[in-house]
Amino acid sequence: MNVFGGEDDANLVPATPIHAAIPWIPYVRWPRAFSFWALTVGSMVNDLEVVPLWVLSGDIYHSRGLMHSVLGVLTLNATVAVFATLYLVPPAMRWFDRRWREPRVFRFAGRDLHEDPRDIGTVYASAALGGLTHILVDIPTHAYNPVWWPWQTVPLNLVPYADELWWDIVAGIPVLLLFAWMMYAYWRR
Ligand SMILES: [Zn+2]
Repeated sequence: MNVFGGEDDANLVPATPIHAAIPWIPYVRWPRAFSFWALTVGSMVNDLEVVPLWVLSGDIYHSRGLMHSVLGVLTLNATVAVFATLYLVPPAMRWFDRRWREPRVFRFAGRDLHEDPRDIGTVYASAALGGLTHILVDIPTHAYNPVWWPWQTVPLNLVPYADELWWDIVAGIPVLLLFAWMMYAYWRR
């Protein structure tokens, strides 16, 4: 989903990170049940396909495909997010720790994120949940949603004005505010 966009500038400002605010809702309620990193990465990997598909199709409005489908979330997206959670996040945290020596940077909702669960069941389920919430946020904010790919004939379009600038702003602001509030209320705490 993009906060800014519309006919002329065509969603040029991506708001991929604010997607994470949605799976953080169950996380702050049940932090032991989830992997924070898999939820977070899983809610963002969907947008990895946007730039390549945009280049291939020449059309930003049709730049969502497999990674914005339920099938893709449960397979490709979850694989990418699990790999990143298990093999990229830990060295990245170590690198940040060495540079800034501020352990509270990796605290969220009362949990030390260095001790995020690493068992494959929790990490996979969290990655999949994060990816599904991304699709849910995108449905009202995009006119082209290949949610049931490849079993659909026409991509889902629930909101006729979904790709118009005013709606991107109206629909994007609550998610942006939620993200800002989550960071304020739970990060480093
Ligand atoms: Zn998206």
